[in-house]
Amino acid sequence: MTDKTDNRFADRAEDAAEDQRDIQRPIDRKDAKAGADDDKEDGAVQAGARRYPEPPLPPQHQKKPGIEADLDPAPMYDAPFWKGSGKLEGFAALITGADSGIGRAVAVLFAREGADIAICHLDEDIDAEETKKAVEAEGRRAIVLKGDVSERAFCDEAVKATLDAFGKIDVVVPNAAFQLHVPEFEDLTEEHFDRTLKTNLYGYFHLTQAAVPHMKSGGAIVMTGSVTGLMGNKSLLDYSLTKGGIHAFARSLGTHLAPRGIRVNVVAPGPVWTPLNPADKDAERTSQFGADTVMKRPAQPEEIAPAYVFLASPQMSSYITGEILPIIGGYSGG
Ligand code: NAD
Repeated sequence: MTDKTDNRFADRAEDAAEDQRDIQRPIDRKDAKAGADDDKEDGAVQAGARRYPEPPLPPQHQKKPGIEADLDPAPMYDAPFWKGSGKLEGFAALITGADSGIGRAVAVLFAREGADIAICHLDEDIDAEETKKAVEAEGRRAIVLKGDVSERAFCDEAVKATLDAFGKIDVVVPNAAFQLHVPEFEDLTEEHFDRTLKTNLYGYFHLTQAAVPHMKSGGAIVMTGSVTGLMGNKSLLDYSLTKGGIHAFARSLGTHLAPRGIRVNVVAPGPVWTPLNPADKDAERTSQFGADTVMKRPAQPEEIAPAYVFLASPQMSSYITGEILPIIGGYSGG
């Protein structure tokens, strides 16, 4: 390079730096002003069809597996604004953990879209009866099946009972889960680790293996994963492991079952207001549940359930398989 060329570049560098400072000045002025207005940003995001609860929520803690009837405020699952349009007309669906939370909201929207529902649950009889009534109020049939998904025999029996009641099985939603945090890695016992894997991984394996031989082309499996399976969680080591496993299982099973016309996808929620977290976290943490998301509040079950309708309906997602759909209230790198 000649001196002449150097000078030309040097002059332009000075100009570019001055241009950068020109762009920066108004942003600096705005930042200084925003410091005073910080309070305005405190509210949670309300972009839904109705208004949803925001932290602080009433402090509360529950014994496992948690009862929706005892939650305050009651989770919002019935989506009164949602008009059914036959997207699952004549289908039969089996949903585990359908007594409460996400599973209940999925049961209600599936029924509104024309499906009969087999409701599986652990021991929350009151919640299961409430879901059954809600499905029947949509004009569809419901059966309730109580048992432990970690037992292969129960999953076999649940599939058989669904076939006996409805004559078919079109959609399976493996959704039941066990989640319990540990303060320290050393607190994670063999028994705890086993319980989480048996429920969350073996449960999904047993159920899908029992159901698939009876499913026809056009059927769908929609599994519940989690943000913890994508991002990890320092207090939910075993649970996050199972959720990441579910994501990989769905991706692999989706490819495996594609030739049979059975699609497999995952909904991976962030914080959702259901019995699961009050039956895990202490009362104070429950009160702030969801506050650290971009939306600054937990989702309500009716904000998550539409994704299951989308992934279950051959009218809506016939070319989608092996996908993981996060619904986590936005992304932030800090
Ligand atoms: P929930 O407490 O309403 O549902 C969990 C269900 O699992 C219960 O209905 C219970 O009956 C069932 N269950 C637990 N152990 C069982 C067993 N051994 N056999 C049979 N059933 C059993 O809570 P939810 O939040 O609606 O959970 C549904 C799914 O959503 C779970 O897979 C959970 O991991 C996932 N999820 C929840 C959140 C959240 O913040 N609530 C976030 C991400 C993912």
